[in-house]
Amino acid sequence: MISALVGAACPLIFAVAVLAICALLHRDRRRTAMATTPCRSCRTPKPSRIYLCAGCWAALTAETRRSLNRRDSKALARLRELHQQIDAGVPLAEIGVTP
Ligand SMILES: [Zn+2]
Repeated sequence: MISALVGAACPLIFAVAVLAICALLHRDRRRTAMATTPCRSCRTPKPSRIYLCAGCWAALTAETRRSLNRRDSKALARLRELHQQIDAGVPLAEIGVTP
């Protein structure tokens, strides 16, 4: 009776362990592939490599987007200007940064 129970339980324990490992691996893969940070403006999770979520980015003027896309020695200063204005409550459409 007991050995029959153990015999039946072993494959079950094995299956549960396999599922748990799969779930852990899957979660890790998702975390590394989709590292997110909250959007500075609306707090929606967004990929950490972009400045704002797609909706807020689209609300900026084309000129501001162009300036922010430029990767030069002033890029970090522009990002700081963007963050300061968002934190100050400036509407996205009115935000301007160093060209
Ligand atoms: Zn946003």
